[in-house]
Amino acid sequence: MTESMRGMRLGSQSMEREDGVELALRRNVSYRCVEGHEFTVTFALGAESPAEWECKQCKNKALLVGGVELQKIEAGEVDKPRTHYDMVLERRTKAELEDLLQEVLADMRKRRSAGKLSA
Ligand SMILES: [Zn+2]
Repeated sequence: MTESMRGMRLGSQSMEREDGVELALRRNVSYRCVEGHEFTVTFALGAESPAEWECKQCKNKALLVGGVELQKIEAGEVDKPRTHYDMVLERRTKAELEDLLQEVLADMRKRRSAGKLSA
């Protein structure tokens, strides 16, 4: 990891210049593998840190150390089944839904005043 970071710095002058900013936008995440090896992986601040990582020493599965609670919450949100409303929201913005609702309501009022809708 350290070597690839060094390589990135060498290849990009602009990143080196904004080094302080880059460091602030990174966080280190600790992993411990089944053999007990501990290592740190650096992620961008906004990037999701996976619950598992491959140990570089023994190639075994390593699990996230610390921040596990947060990881569980994130996973729970992902696993939560999506409702029809969620999927509608993905296709339409809230403003569009609002327009649609007003259209439907206007249509209902029109039909109600015409005596076609009793409710
Ligand atoms: Zn290991």
